[in-house]
Amino acid sequence: MSEAPSLDFIREIIADDLASGKHASIITRFPPEPNGYLHIGHAKSICLNFGIALENAVVGARCHLRFDDTNPEKEESEYVESIKQDVKWLGFDWGDNLYFASDYFQFFYDCAVHLINQGLAYVDDDSAEEMRVKRGNLTTPGTRSACAERSAEENLSLFEKMKAGGFKEGECVLRARIDMASSNMNLRDPVLYRIMHAHHHNTGDSWCIYPMYDFAHPLEDALEHITHSLCTLEFENHRPLYDWFIENCPVPSKPRQIEFARLNLTYTVMSKRKLLQLVQENRVSGWDDPRLPTISGLRRRGYPAAAIRDFCKRIGMTKFSGTTDVALLEFEVRDFLNREAPRRMAVLDPVKVILENWSAEPLTHADVPNHPQNPDMGERHIPISNEVWIEREDFMEDPPKKFFRLGPGRYVRLKGGHIIQCTSFEKDSTGNISLIRAQILPGTVGKDSPVGVVCKAAIHWVDCATGVDAQVRLYDRLFTVENPDDAEGGFLSVLNPESLKTITAKVEPMLANAEPGFSCQFERIGYFIADSKEHQPGAKPVFNRTVALKDSYAARA
Ligand code: ATP
Ligand code: MG
Repeated sequence: MSEAPSLDFIREIIADDLASGKHASIITRFPPEPNGYLHIGHAKSICLNFGIALENAVVGARCHLRFDDTNPEKEESEYVESIKQDVKWLGFDWGDNLYFASDYFQFFYDCAVHLINQGLAYVDDDSAEEMRVKRGNLTTPGTRSACAERSAEENLSLFEKMKAGGFKEGECVLRARIDMASSNMNLRDPVLYRIMHAHHHNTGDSWCIYPMYDFAHPLEDALEHITHSLCTLEFENHRPLYDWFIENCPVPSKPRQIEFARLNLTYTVMSKRKLLQLVQENRVSGWDDPRLPTISGLRRRGYPAAAIRDFCKRIGMTKFSGTTDVALLEFEVRDFLNREAPRRMAVLDPVKVILENWSAEPLTHADVPNHPQNPDMGERHIPISNEVWIEREDFMEDPPKKFFRLGPGRYVRLKGGHIIQCTSFEKDSTGNISLIRAQILPGTVGKDSPVGVVCKAAIHWVDCATGVDAQVRLYDRLFTVENPDDAEGGFLSVLNPESLKTITAKVEPMLANAEPGFSCQFERIGYFIADSKEHQPGAKPVFNRTVALKDSYAARA
């Protein structure tokens, strides 16, 4: 019996609006401000907006990618390009629906003129400080500026002078005339336009007045015939203002704003300001540093787009803000890669094993399946010889009963190869195991253990003769505490000094020819990806750890 999937509250509203005939189709939008790279929080909004459009494709639904580039000072075209790339990589397509809010500057201006003509907007020359004082507070109503008594004609000519560059920055602003006594502070005559003598990446120097977000956003939505304007909860008490602009401006449609909880994740920061600071102060290697929660960082880390989409689906939509455990994201990544990633062998902490009686049954290669559960992925033939690297932790000098790997006199299988028995070992001056000697058991390749031999495990290995050295970057959480934003000494005080450990590992030879972005499981260790920037086929491989096989944090807890 299959149940219809239950809809979240936003999808329910949309289904109702289609059923009632309120809307014949659905148009959503994703409206990033190009002042930074996208992060996993944006992915939630992208999956929601583009997801709704895809789910309603039968009624011609679509999702616009709109750059909210109304603020000239903080925006760069590098960000525009990275945002497009990230949305595409996440698997979404805006088709022809790419928009820039700065293309609507004339429309915003016309709406402002309309409000002035209706007596609903005025030019105010109060200083920022005077405005702040007169706005009042939650317990005291505000008092309106004397400038509000100006006639529409006077306001029009002042506003034109603002536009023409006749004032200096901060000399005056255009404000809506709404309600200085409103319990909602956003309605106490909010600023619509401020003067900024700044160059804009799209409009150049044609404007020196720029609209405020609260004014521009509803107008952008209405111009594009957005039906449902989905935003995060901080905008809930801006909604009356959103509706006021829609009500009072000559707009071609009436979008509806609906708020949902933003995504917060443990052990990371999501504010663009903080991400920018990490990048600018070289605390990380760039916006795509694999430790950052940016989409480009997660991509470089090896997080598959599908796993990020699955994660966004799993967390769902609510009206309550909270913090999601990053382990849930890691779980989705593991779950996806466990199914999809081919297996390879690498030894991160190598110790050499000499197979003393190799000539008794020498092999040229071992046949190892590329995926334990998926025979369609085939197998590969890995060269092997009389000396192999194994993982240091797969040997114990004095192992407890439950340890089924190598120890003096004990047996273990080399994956795809023989069962071997340890005959002796050597230590270096610091007491570390430096060499292991073992004997192969002829006739055991691909066969069960012979009678009397206890061999319960197969370990990974790398052939000493043909294996290659690789640079492996072991990434860990960027912060040491769950909520870096709340750290007493600021978020930088809780940076994890061990968030990146770079080691040299031994890897099977074919990894030297892997393409950048090749993702695999290093058997028994974790998931790794050939770095998209620094790995080159034919050169010393460079791999990033995507995620360990087991959640070491959960194990410790
Ligand atoms: P800021 O406005 O401070 O620069 P922002 O994170 O709001 O930062 P925008 O570029 O304005 O960045 O965001 C684009 C869209 O992504 C908005 O609709 C916003 O609501 C949504 N968004 C941003 N952060 C999150 C988050 N953590 N969870 C869900 N949605 C988010
Ligand atoms: Mg924003």
